[in-house]
Amino acid sequence: MLNQHNAFDAMQARLRVAAELYGLEDALFQVFIAPSRSLIVSCPVHMDDGRWEVFTGYRVQHNMARGPSKGGIRFDPRLTLDEVKAGAAWNTWKTAVVDVPFGGGKGGVVCDPTTMSQGELERLTRRYVAEIMDVLGPDRDVPGIDMGTNSQVIAWVLDTYIMHTRKTENAVVTGKPISLGGSLGRTEATGRGILISAREAMQRLGKPLAGATLAIQGFGNVGSQSARLLHEAGARMVAVSDLKGAIRNDRGIDTHALLKHHAEFKTVVGFKGAEPMDPKELLTMQVDILVPAATENQITEDNAAKVRAKVVVEGANGPTSPEADPILLDNGVLVVPDILANAGGVTVSYFEWVQNRLGFYWREREVNERLVEYMTHAFQAVFATTDKFKTNPRIGAYILALDRVSQALHDRGFYA
Ligand code: NAD
Repeated sequence: MLNQHNAFDAMQARLRVAAELYGLEDALFQVFIAPSRSLIVSCPVHMDDGRWEVFTGYRVQHNMARGPSKGGIRFDPRLTLDEVKAGAAWNTWKTAVVDVPFGGGKGGVVCDPTTMSQGELERLTRRYVAEIMDVLGPDRDVPGIDMGTNSQVIAWVLDTYIMHTRKTENAVVTGKPISLGGSLGRTEATGRGILISAREAMQRLGKPLAGATLAIQGFGNVGSQSARLLHEAGARMVAVSDLKGAIRNDRGIDTHALLKHHAEFKTVVGFKGAEPMDPKELLTMQVDILVPAATENQITEDNAAKVRAKVVVEGANGPTSPEADPILLDNGVLVVPDILANAGGVTVSYFEWVQNRLGFYWREREVNERLVEYMTHAFQAVFATTDKFKTNPRIGAYILALDRVSQALHDRGFYA
């Protein structure tokens, strides 16, 4: 039986609905519910206090029909293989939705980076890369940043890979520091994609983005960049949260001042220009736009009926459980699904990979303009598919992706 709060099961639940509506052959459905490769590795690491600790790492390649698998590396103490499998599958669909020539992958290590020293993190990263070396490569599998990792971790991944292969192949990872071939605009790319999605969604409702009220759950890379860019576009952020708590100000939170506060205290809590609030209430506030940008399963059958936002733009992967989907739909909430809404990150990762392979680097303006083009095109394609199949945007996005991935599989044929 499917467990809707298990990320891989939740992915399958949506895939099943989309596959039926699309008329996908059962053989292809069977291909898509089984990742093509799942690697589990054991990483012994010398800790600062002299002990050895053994960490479990994963790398999953879900489907590579359209190109090398692409997906972040997550460092998280609660990480499970099913979560990594779900992430890999979502990346197959996400790269297809924005139509970049990648497949889907994902990886990670069960560890708590917040309690580890830089030296321990570096040794863990290098050992993990050495263990999964055989499946990596610019034409095979291209990791990037995800929760708990950053451009420093990615720089260690790159260096370890280069030391083993003895050649500079910086297209093997994305999210690199600019000094190592990273792309301008990558840090804010997911937030910029959220901005584009929010603008398009409001336009569908016949409402401008300027003046729209906004609540954001999570103030990490995605949440903080979305907050900044939406603020610059004229939206009024009235509430924001992180793991430590939530704050609200109905007149609008000064996003730039909050970013400074966050840089110093590493939390939104204690910000002078707002009042504390119950983090659970943030998701059910009366706002125009809600951006869940933290983690999975935040909008579930328990709170979906209370969601009063007009538009939900899914910054996180899997923030809405399958049981919550019909409730939101019945209440007229327009949901821009994760595999479209947060695809700005993977799109600029693709731009980074292209620039690395060309050895020719674009100005930030060019990156941002191309991102607008890819995201707007994807948004329109998802909503055209949604209308064509008389379904909701999430299933529309899955159908669009299924169509593109299965077309590639048919064209290649099955090698047996
Ligand atoms: P991050 O680690 O930088 O930030 C996560 C933020 O969420 C932190 O502020 C954390 O305190 C907060 N948080 C975690 N659990 C919370 C909870 N229960 N309630 C409130 N706040 C909570 O991570 P990120 O890179 O911003 O990623 C966030 C989500 O977006 C993840 O699901 C990730 O997979 C997805 N995503 C990220 C990118 C990217 O480019 N970084 C791209 C696509 C999707």
